Amino acid sequence: MKFVGAHVSAAGGVFNAPINAKEIGAKAFAIFTKNQRQWKAKPLTEDAVRKFKENLKAVGIKPEHVLPHDSYLINLGSPDPEKRRKSLEAFIDEVERCYQLGLKYLNFHPGSHLRKISEEECLKIVADSVNEAISRTRDIVLVIENTAGQGSNVGYRFEHIAQIIELVEDKSRIGVCLDTCHLFAAGYDIRTREAYEKTMEEFDQIVGFKYLKGMHLNDAKSQLGSRVDRHHSIGKGNIGLEAFRFIMNDPRLDNIPLILETIDPSIWKEEIELLYSLVE
Ligand SMILES: [Zn+2]
Ligand SMILES: [Zn+2]
Repeated sequence: MKFVGAHVSAAGGVFNAPINAKEIGAKAFAIFTKNQRQWKAKPLTEDAVRKFKENLKAVGIKPEHVLPHDSYLINLGSPDPEKRRKSLEAFIDEVERCYQLGLKYLNFHPGSHLRKISEEECLKIVADSVNEAISRTRDIVLVIENTAGQGSNVGYRFEHIAQIIELVEDKSRIGVCLDTCHLFAAGYDIRTREAYEKTMEEFDQIVGFKYLKGMHLNDAKSQLGSRVDRHHSIGKGNIGLEAFRFIMNDPRLDNIPLILETIDPSIWKEEIELLYSLVE
């Protein structure tokens, strides 16, 4: 069974997110547990946590179908020790927020080398950051997202993700989220049956489906291999609808959150319906 949803708003409090998900017919959702553009956030109140858990239960969405996303400010692979430390402290705070909310995952972008160190060195710093975050927190599985490789972002090759995982000591606390737009922009084609199977086979060989904890379903305004991260609504971009038919009928993608981060929230409900209509 597929669990499709979207990255919904948590405006007014995290406890509003399950309600917002329910309104668009989502069976899964993503959220920011704090303002994603600020370093500091007020701690979650007991009342907010209780309301979140109540609302989640009321809408019938399981904690494993919620995929919180970390702040865009965080760079766990920063070549600057001070900035890396600031990022790591903010990241650990986010892991703790997910734990307080009774969730299972925290989705993050690996990081950027800012053209000051090599990709290899950057990946090593990311892994060190992840190891420290794991050692200072409980339970939450840290879910690496593949990137488009825009700017100096690492994580656009399956090999990068595999390298981080290899260096992580507690492999029960590390997972992967595949973003379809990022895949495509990084040069992994999924538009035809043949291309889709080849990309997924490569992912399985290099990373392994056992680590896949979620997906971001986005069409792309950017071109194959362009390394440009521009999302589009499902079926309207350069990936096209067929790829999403393969996804919706792929049993390897059952029971994980499949999250829309498409550009027009006003049609998320229709996009979710469209995706379910592809199930054969
Ligand atoms: Zn994404
Ligand atoms: Zn993106």
